Amino acid sequence: MPPVSEAEREQYQREIALGWSRFFEPKVTTCPWCGFGDLTRRLRTTDILQGKPGIFYLDRCKTCDHIFQNPRLNLDGLEFYYRDFYDGFGREFIDSVFSSQGWLYEGRAKVVDGFFGPEGPKNWLDIGTGYGHFADYARQFLPNTTFDGLDMGSSLLEGKARGWLDTIYPGQVDDHVEAIRNKYDVISMHHYLEHVRDPRHDLDIVADVLRDGAFLSIEVPDAASWLSRICGRWWAPWYQPQHQHLLPLPNLLAALKERGLTPVRVQHGEAHISGELTCAYIFFLANLAPHPDSPWLPERTPAQRKFHERLWKIAPKAFPALYRADFQYLGPLVAKLGGSNAYRVLAQRDVRSD
Ligand SMILES: [Zn+2]
Repeated sequence: MPPVSEAEREQYQREIALGWSRFFEPKVTTCPWCGFGDLTRRLRTTDILQGKPGIFYLDRCKTCDHIFQNPRLNLDGLEFYYRDFYDGFGREFIDSVFSSQGWLYEGRAKVVDGFFGPEGPKNWLDIGTGYGHFADYARQFLPNTTFDGLDMGSSLLEGKARGWLDTIYPGQVDDHVEAIRNKYDVISMHHYLEHVRDPRHDLDIVADVLRDGAFLSIEVPDAASWLSRICGRWWAPWYQPQHQHLLPLPNLLAALKERGLTPVRVQHGEAHISGELTCAYIFFLANLAPHPDSPWLPERTPAQRKFHERLWKIAPKAFPALYRADFQYLGPLVAKLGGSNAYRVLAQRDVRSD
């Protein structure tokens, strides 16, 4: 972890002293997806990713099964809870996590197999690309494709500097509508839509900018997975407080069709991200003994530091066994029984009639 300056710690402590209820919008009583009001509580949790203060709720709509954060974070809240996750204090950790997922990027690259000639797509824009780890891996399988990235984080500049991304678009999709219009053979959103405030708005834009016959690839968590029941609030795809919406597959498919995008490939097992038990264990440990230098925590006592040091010396001995359980048993079981923790949809832009 990079060293934390006193100024950063003081800034966090000042913000936390003001209370965290100011980071939320009012709770809503109707589903943001279908508009009906039959809601039920699905999850109550804390920030198990970073250990910042706050309590978060996910509600499920009984009419359409959409799951969403309620009350949802406001813009200040999003800034507060994302800070030091993908960059700053959390940068090295998240970079190492993304670097360890090559097998996943391969599946994402190969989702277009059979839809292009031997040369593959000419160009590919990855929205919410982060550092561009996907682009870096995907080049092995699609050596003739140009990979560009769009992201609002500073990681995008790092991805460009590493040579992983060709053209970069810093900011939101809204900022680059004309620049990306009719330009790409493929646009992807891998674990992006669940983070945005209004997924249908982003779908509107992409449906508008894709040229006729071009492709959109979407991958999102699938809360219908039975693993969400087994792991409870330690289930990684809940990812609170970052995930704002968890979209059931039928809702996404309908939303794509409404926008002139025809789903041509749907993958479940291929999109499963193994590592549930290992992740749940890491989250549990991190909550039991958070990193003592985390700037949002009050100054740690010597006893707390000692506990952290001892726990993180002993507890990782269980990692190999959990990892084996995840990849050798649970992953194949999911492939056999279904219930993967994510799904992937490839859709093709219809030919416009006007
Ligand atoms: Zn609904």
